[in-house]
Order: sequence, then C-alpha cells, then structure tokens
Amino acid sequence: MLKIDPQDELICLRAHDAQAGGPALPPIAQASLFRQPSMERLLVGLSREDDHFIYSRGSNPTVAILEKTLAELERGEACKCFASGMGAISAVLFGLLEAGDHVLFVNDIYGPTIELAERLSRFGVDYSRTFATAAHEIVAAIRDQTRIIYIESPGSTLFGLAPIEAICNAAKLRGIVTVMDNTVATPLLQKPLSFGVDLVVHSCSKYIGGHSDVVGGAVVGSAALLHTIFYESYMLLGAAMAPFDAWLLLRGLMTLPARMQRHHADGLEIASFLQAHPRIERLFHPAFCESQSDLMNRQMLGHSGLFSVCVDVPDFSGLLTVANRLQLFGKAVSWGGAESLVMTGHKSDPGKNPSARVPMNLLRLSVGLEGADNLIRDLERALA
Ligand SMILES: *Cc1c(COP(=O)(O)O)cnc(C)c1O
Repeated sequence: MLKIDPQDELICLRAHDAQAGGPALPPIAQASLFRQPSMERLLVGLSREDDHFIYSRGSNPTVAILEKTLAELERGEACKCFASGMGAISAVLFGLLEAGDHVLFVNDIYGPTIELAERLSRFGVDYSRTFATAAHEIVAAIRDQTRIIYIESPGSTLFGLAPIEAICNAAKLRGIVTVMDNTVATPLLQKPLSFGVDLVVHSCSKYIGGHSDVVGGAVVGSAALLHTIFYESYMLLGAAMAPFDAWLLLRGLMTLPARMQRHHADGLEIASFLQAHPRIERLFHPAFCESQSDLMNRQMLGHSGLFSVCVDVPDFSGLLTVANRLQLFGKAVSWGGAESLVMTGHKSDPGKNPSARVPMNLLRLSVGLEGADNLIRDLERALA
C-alpha cells in the first residue's frame, strides 16, 4: 500500500483549528470586504493586502486557511490560491516575465499553458519546448534570455518524468526561476520544492478537490516570489478564489490521503490488467516505464489513478467506439474525482499525422473510486 507521510495526513485533516464549542469545519467568510477598527488601520492594511483582510480579491480568511495548508503540504513558505489552475499559471508567467525573456518548457505540458505562452509572444516573450529526458540535453536547450524553466512531471497524457533536481541545479547557477506543475502527483506524492524547484503550481480542480465540483488553482514557493506574484499579477489579473470554493477544497483535502491510496492501488491493478490485454498495444504509466524507474523512486512516493493506453483499433472512430462502450468511465474532460473518466489523446481525428507525439489510438483513463473489480469488468466488456 502507498505509504503517505504521516505529517501530511495530519496537515490534510487539521487544516481548520477547531476549537471546543466552535464549528468543526472552517466558517465561510462570504464577504467581499472587511471592516477595520480605524481609518489608520484601514490605510495600513491597504498597503499590505497580502497579509491583511481588506478586500476578497486580495485576501480572504477561508481562502487563507487553504493557502496555509497547501504551503505546509508542499513545504513552502507561502501560497496563493486562484480561481483556476490557469489563473495560477497566468499569474506566474505575467508576474515574472518581461519583454525579451524566454521560457523553456520541459516535458509534456498542459495544452492551455502552451497556448498562453503562445499569446505571450505578443508582449515580446519567447518560448521553446524540449521533450528530452536526459538532463544534459535539457540544459543544452537553456538560452541566455531564459528567465523561467517550466516543468511538468509526470506529464498528464504520456506520463513521462523529468529529472527535476538536475534541471534545478542548472537553473540556479544561471539565476533562472524554475516552475513546476505538480497537479498529477498532488503534494502528497511529490514535493518539487525539496528538489530545488522555486514555484509549484496546482490545478486544485483535480485530485485536491477530488469531487468534480470545484475549479481552483494554487502557487506555492518562497515568501519573496509569492510577494512579487501577489502585487505584479495576482491582484491585477483578478483570478481570486471564491471562499466557498476554498471551503470545498479544504473538505476535499480531508480525504486526499485516503483517496490517493485508493487511486494508486486501483490504478496499478487496472494498468496491470490492461498491460496483459491483447488489445492494448501500449501503456503509459510511470510504474510501467523501466527507463524511468530511478527517477520515479527518487522523486515520487507513488502514483495517481491517471494513465493512458493505446488500443488496437484501425482508426479514430474505432477508438471512439471502444470509449463509448465503457459504462463506468464517464466521457468527460478533467480527472481526479470519485468517478472514473475516459478521454481521447486528440480532440479530433489526427488522421495519419506522423509527427504527432500523442498516438492516434490513445485513451487516457482516470481511475475513480468505483473499485478495481468493477472497472476491470467494464474494460473487459468494452474491449471484447
Ligand atoms: C487541469 C490542469 C491545469 C489547469 O487547471 P484549471 O483548474 O482547469 O484551470 C493545469 N495543469 C494541469 C496538469 C492540469 O491537469
């Protein structure tokens, strides 16, 4: 069984410091503004909105409990939450980049993140991508203008891993900020800051929320970097998290350790079943990739319930037929909730495009909490 850090188990459960006679769960501070005891205190608070409750586009008490909890889980000094994962990613890029800067993206990156980088070219920010796995090849892609190295590991389609520590060492020597999207692993399975990453970003809409009922994001890192992001972008872009969403996420966190143990175990069982199935041509799961097992063991405590398979089908419509035959796997985007989901690797028929990194016949599965036996039966039926 996946062994979660006992400290993390308590952090997830004790986010709200419940007092005897008080509410067991944190109150939802459903307010846009906060009254101050005097005009003088109002003006002081207004100049320090990152640590005063003045207006909820800046700081909010319910959101602040979540921020403190996520910072503790990632072992970071500070955290800011956002209305979505993309809100968090936008704030990092807008907050830290200037015209003339270059961003290096390492490994498979969430599609909209690359689309955002594409838009940044309007403001004179350049970017490039590397899919290399060897540290020296990644380092060779760094340019003189590189200001940010942005990593995703595991990627959320092909699940390849990046050598985090080696990249961060090279970045530190050159004064480059490293950012890592840790959404797939969650703070429980991987702690990027401990490998030298400067900023961790999360989409809280996936496992952290865990019930497909909230969209949210977070950035964790040093107090200094979070201070910059707060004033340079967060307050101005305006993607503040709603207090009720923070409350839902705090509730989600209470079961995150238990859910991840289940996703890890059932995901492995279902992946093993699929690996042995005659209609499965390939499996993309970090536990089934021998060339990455060293990195896996060094960087991650275990696996999520997310992985991909290539199905033996003649064409894209054959793939859709297989996915349609699944009954327990919902046909939906996103992942990380209680219900299992299936999604194609491509948004439309890629035809015979040989340059595509993502195979035409790839299905991504998010293993939920229905139980491995039920899900295996469903897959068996769909592949029959
Ligand atoms: C979903 C996702 C995001 C974006 O998060 P939203 O909350 O949907 O804005 C970013 N990175 C990864 C890896 C994701 O899966």
